[in-house]
Amino acid sequence: ATPMSIMVGVGRGAKMGVLIKNAEALERMEKVDTLVVDKTGTLTEGRPSLTRIITVGSTERTAAPLADDRATVTERTGAAEDELLRLAAGVERASEHPLAAAITAAAHERGITIPDVADFDSPAGRGVTGTVEGHQVALGNVDFLASLGTDMRTLDTQADQLRGEGATVIHMSIDGHAAGLFAIADPIKATTADALAALAADGIQIVMLTGDNLATAQAVAKRLGIDRVEAQVLPEHKSDIVKALRREGKVVAMAGDGVNDAPALAAADVGLAMGSGTDVAIESAGITLLGGDLVGIVHARRLSQKTMRNIR
Ligand code: ADP
Ligand code: MG
Repeated sequence: ATPMSIMVGVGRGAKMGVLIKNAEALERMEKVDTLVVDKTGTLTEGRPSLTRIITVGSTERTAAPLADDRATVTERTGAAEDELLRLAAGVERASEHPLAAAITAAAHERGITIPDVADFDSPAGRGVTGTVEGHQVALGNVDFLASLGTDMRTLDTQADQLRGEGATVIHMSIDGHAAGLFAIADPIKATTADALAALAADGIQIVMLTGDNLATAQAVAKRLGIDRVEAQVLPEHKSDIVKALRREGKVVAMAGDGVNDAPALAAADVGLAMGSGTDVAIESAGITLLGGDLVGIVHARRLSQKTMRNIR
């Protein structure tokens, strides 16, 4: 029989936007000592936008500017950026990733007509490839482009600087040659800092988990006072991190929003899905936080403590 206090807890949670799907999640929440939290879409808004385009050509021009005609340089750089964005959007239009949405939205804003793509492929957590107007276009992280035979090192300095600002950097190649970078920024949710501070004050260790680059992840972690970061984790390995922590004897809650996060949510003692997240994530979690507000984790913990006190 479901104890009355659990029903009361579930009811109170619902009023605060904390939807408790199973009683075990509510019972276990008070014992949680570790929160593994996905970066994109969980700590951040999950609505990334394009902030910079760097073209291989424009880098060369910046290094040796044409002193006689600066206006022409700017104009040419702008045109090169638009052309890169046009081809990138052609491929990204076929992807459902939030990073892809940032690129296609930027193309729309600039009034660019997005071309069609053929032979589209999107290996999860790595990037996308396709043929646009007869050109082989690839976008993704450095390792993905390296696996396709493209060396992106000419853009290392720029990429590092952008990552240091917390931006996600997408590398692009055209016909196997390094073509440019896209910097994409995803603002941290307004409620994230307070929620994490309250959880840390409650003795919970926070671990950031992301498929994104280590430098980007560390820049975001630093702003939020998170000292443990697991970055560049492939989607199929996210749940391994949760399992390893549980083997160490930790009681683990996992908060996430994406399709990629579903196995990790299911592997945790308590899975917390963002209500703003994907259906798969919500189905895999015991608790859903409406509006994706992480303060809901603090509420869930208090509810759990009260509920268990009433039962004992
Ligand atoms: P997260 O764990 O932060 O939600 P993902 O695992 O979905 O991130 O993606 C990890 C990395 O793979 C991204 O930071 C990006 O470099 C690359 N990537 C994934 N999808 C795309 C895409 N559609 N276009 C370009 N790069 C992508
Ligand atoms: Mg995510």
